Amino acid sequence: AHLERIAAVDGAVHAYLHVAADGARQTAAEIDRKRAAGEQLHALAGVPIAIKDVLVTNDMPSTSGSRILEGWIPPYDATVVRRVREAGLVPLGKTNMDEFAMGSSTEHSAYGPTHNPWDLDRIPGGSGGGSAAAVASYQAPLALGSDTGGSIRQPAHVTGTVGVKPTYGAVSRYGAIALASSLDQIGPVSRTVLDSALLHDVIAGHDPHDSTSLRDEWPSMAEAVRRADVAGLKIGVIKQLDGEGFQPGVLARFHEALALLEKNGAEIVEVSAPSFEYAIAAYYLILPAEASSNLAKFDSVRFGLRVTPPGGGTVEQVMAATREAGFGPEVKRRIILGTYALSAGYYDAYYGSAQKVRTLVQRDFESAFGRVDVLASPTAPTTAFKLGEKLGGDPMSMYLNDIATIPANLAGIPGMSLPAGLADEDGLPVGIQFLAPARADARLYGVGGALE
Ligand code: GLN
Repeated sequence: AHLERIAAVDGAVHAYLHVAADGARQTAAEIDRKRAAGEQLHALAGVPIAIKDVLVTNDMPSTSGSRILEGWIPPYDATVVRRVREAGLVPLGKTNMDEFAMGSSTEHSAYGPTHNPWDLDRIPGGSGGGSAAAVASYQAPLALGSDTGGSIRQPAHVTGTVGVKPTYGAVSRYGAIALASSLDQIGPVSRTVLDSALLHDVIAGHDPHDSTSLRDEWPSMAEAVRRADVAGLKIGVIKQLDGEGFQPGVLARFHEALALLEKNGAEIVEVSAPSFEYAIAAYYLILPAEASSNLAKFDSVRFGLRVTPPGGGTVEQVMAATREAGFGPEVKRRIILGTYALSAGYYDAYYGSAQKVRTLVQRDFESAFGRVDVLASPTAPTTAFKLGEKLGGDPMSMYLNDIATIPANLAGIPGMSLPAGLADEDGLPVGIQFLAPARADARLYGVGGALE
């Protein structure tokens, strides 16, 4: 049914970069056989899933939205992909994304943008717009995404879906094509909080292949949804993310959701996070710095594309021609920014200062979580903007959209975005975001489950 749905609507939505129809049918048939034979299967066995193209798969191309990896079929599966296969989920294909996960609209994909199923002239968010749009348009019930500065939560916000960024280290990054290693985290995308919880339980857990993977035993997130209750829960509203710069319809749905939580016994208090003002500036130095280093491996020798200048060339000339042809403008911009910020003489002024701000953001969270159990904010300042609207000369207009999502990545804490209704002025989806202390992912599922 999902393959039929993809055939019917993905021409207009363009959520998928690759559809593995034969593979999906084979896997589904295998699960059916096992079920008929009376084998004990996982609750999600046989359920289709879409996979963001940032995750490597040994049987499908993995481009990370870039020309430089066009046609590359990796020799192994990312740990999360292996885990979903072992649980019997059925991969449908790979979803579209901004190139190397840089962006908030999927317009930076080298393969053309994804369209928001609610209004095809609008962006589906980014970088994981493909995964969110696939789930929102019933082309997949579940998807995997990656969130470095909001790429799971912001697409969820603009498409009326649920997206979760787990605690840093909760889910293995092995086989996730790295953007910024200290910020990247893999997580679930779904239409309900319980669905995300079920997928979260499949993908979380220690992985010896990822040196930052936590050794924690995680409680069941699905259980947390079933026990959902907010009575007595203290919810902090972040002052800096409630008011100026946010669309009235986004704020209206946010406050309605808070009122509902209050009615069900939660206590709402205001908290302040003064360093959030500098979070975007710090993030857009730390991210390009780490990305410029991570992307150095695309050197025309080890992976994917190789462009030889006419008449041949030295190793360096081949490398330069390949990177010139293979990377898009946003990727080049960030490589240049990051290389500059890391260069001797500027390192302390830029990268060093950004790391200090990162510490301040972490302290803001520590002091907030000393007073409240979870924090709440709108997931992003506006509903889905029009395709092309923020593609002009100034990249800052896109970056500013990440104000509410970036702090969680800088601090490594978990975050969830879930639907809060539609904005009055444009009828487009609005998300509410909850944040919890590191390792308290289950708390988010408790609140999300109660609100749903
Ligand atoms: N919009 C952010 C950026 O462009 C988010 C990226 C992400 O989470 N992968 O960096």
